[in-house]
Parts: sequence; structure tokens; C-alpha cells
Amino acid sequence: MKENISQQVERLIRPEIRALAPYHVPDATGMVKLDAMENPYRWPPEIIAAWLEQLRSAPLNRYPDPEAHTLRARLRERMAAPAGCDIVLGNGSDELIQMIALAVAMPGRVILAPEPSFVMYHMIAAYAAMNYVGVPLQKDFALDLDAMHAAIRKHRPALVFLAYPNNPTGNLYDKQAVCAIIEECPGLVIVDEAYHAFAGDSFMDALQRYPNLLVMRTLSKMGLAGLRLGALIGAPAWLTEINKIRLPYNINVLTQISAEFALAHHDILTAQAEQIIAERARLEVELSKLPGLTIYPSSANFILFRVPSGRATQIFAGLKSHKVLIKNMDSSGGLLKDSLRVTVGSAEENKLFLTALAAVL
Ligand code: PMP
Repeated sequence: MKENISQQVERLIRPEIRALAPYHVPDATGMVKLDAMENPYRWPPEIIAAWLEQLRSAPLNRYPDPEAHTLRARLRERMAAPAGCDIVLGNGSDELIQMIALAVAMPGRVILAPEPSFVMYHMIAAYAAMNYVGVPLQKDFALDLDAMHAAIRKHRPALVFLAYPNNPTGNLYDKQAVCAIIEECPGLVIVDEAYHAFAGDSFMDALQRYPNLLVMRTLSKMGLAGLRLGALIGAPAWLTEINKIRLPYNINVLTQISAEFALAHHDILTAQAEQIIAERARLEVELSKLPGLTIYPSSANFILFRVPSGRATQIFAGLKSHKVLIKNMDSSGGLLKDSLRVTVGSAEENKLFLTALAAVL
């Protein structure tokens, strides 16, 4: 008898893909949106006008520059990429994670990351048919160096991803601990600096010391999440190979023009990041005045906090009914049980969040 469609799906789609839940993005219509680490600020009207003027002559009938030469040169300058390093661009750093994984994927190969961390490391391991190993962080979200060393020795990972600062915990790992991991690791270590703008520290300079290190950045948290632009920096020997995985025109014409424009006005992006850092400090103080919360120190543009045991989902839903959307981390379990994560918004958004939180606590 002929197979029906579900039997065909079951036979053809890989089991690890069928087992995945799609990356869930909740509907935020009408909400104070503090769930996705976006920058709350738009550009001033005169800057928007100048940007639109640039877009007017965008050659949409042509494919984009496949190598995005001008944009890569601007980014290299802005990020102070060390001499001798190359740079590859992705449609968001998500795409770069995928490109790196596809470049090394072979049956049995391992991606290793501390847990909890950015969920795409785990998901992309499944996309690339690689094995994923998560190594629990310590209670205060510091790296468990003994456990990391043991796991590296046991699994010999092809890739280790370290988010610096980490998402969703917000902390910067101890620098010496990260160096020890890079030194020990037989594979590539990717230090993911998505939240670099708010962190005040970086591994960019370490690229010249460690041949197995790559540094990843994104413009998403700097007010350009809608553009989708990530950058991977490292030795040309690695990046030449990873670049072969890149789809030919992955950075579109509008993104190239807009990102070049934004980088030419980087003072606006930097000023916004400084505003967010100042708001983060205020938010930390105000949150710590509320009863029963544990606030974790953050070097990113979000704050993780723990609520009284068993109440996270109710508090999250209560905030939603006040039209404030944050992220409920409770269902991730483990160290994230009873935890919520709020993105630092504008002063006004943060106030709405704090008022709603005080009402539902
Ligand atoms: N890395 C980390 C640690 C992140 O938290 C995120 C976004 N949540 C990303 C990478 C992906 O960023 P994007 O694809 O927007 O560049």
C-alpha cells in the first residue's frame, strides 16, 4: 500500500529535526516589547531622512555585492579587527553559527556550550546533524572550569560556543577561565560577543594570540535588529573555508547600504548603547527594591531575575495582561527555574514594566 504523507514525512525528515520545536516568537502587537533584546530607540528624524535619501538610489534590480567589500571594510575599522584577520558577514549572527557548523559537521562531531546559553547553538547542532553537549554553569552562572575541562577531554568538541556576555544570564565569564578553555580546546572556540556594546570587554585582541579562536558580533542589539547583520572575525585560514558555505548574496542591497550608513553615524549607535547602560543601572536599582526578587548582575542589555518559587509563569502572564511582554525562562528548568528575563527598554518602557511588575508581584 502507498505511504500516506505522514509516513513519508516520518521516513524522510531526520528524527532530530522532527523532534525540534520551531524557534518561537510570541505576538507582541500592542505590547511594551521587552522580550527580545532589541534597542528601544529610533534614529532622529533628520538621520532617517538622510538614510532614506541613500536608499532612493539603491539598485534593487541588481544582485548585491556578494562580498560586501565596502561594508566589510567599514566594519573592520569600527570593530578594530586586528591586522591579519579576515571578516565574513552573515544574515544575523544566527546564520554565521549555522555556517560554522556546516563547515565542520560530520557524523559524531560535537558542538559544546555552557548551559544555560543561547538556544541556537543547540538547535543548529541538530540542523547540521551534529551532537550537542551542554555543560551546566555554576549556581552564580560562572563557568564550571573543571566540568568544562572534563567535557572537552571526553567529547573533543569540534566547536565550543561561549557567549560573552552570556544570554540569558547576562554575565561576563571570568576571562582567565575562557582563555583556559581556548588553550585546551582541540577545536574552534567561538566567542559570541552579541552584547559587546554593553559589556566593556572583548576577546577581539586575543585573536592574535589564539589561532583556534573566532569572535562573532552582531548589529542587532545596537538598534539594527531589522537589518540582520552579523560579523565573524578570525584568521583567514578558517574564514576562507567558512566563506565557501555562505550563500552567494546573503547580505542584501538594502542591508549593505543601511549598515554602511549606520556605521558612518556610529556616534548615534554608541550614544544609544550608553543610554541603555544607564537605564540598565536604574532598572537594576528599581528591581532590587521590589520584594522577593533575586537580581543577577548584567553586562548586557537585559536583566535576568528570579521570582519567588513557583510564581514565574503567573507573574509573566500578569505582566502580559498589563501589556508588557518579557521572557519567561522558567520552562527551561535547571538554573533558570523561577526566572524571568527583561530587556532594558526606554525610560518610559522600563517604568511601565516596573509598575506592572509591582502590581502583579
Ligand atoms: N548570539 C547571542 C548570544 C544572542 O543572544 C543572539 C540573539 N538573541 C544572537 C547571537 C543572534 O543574533 P542575530 O542573529 O540577531 O545577529
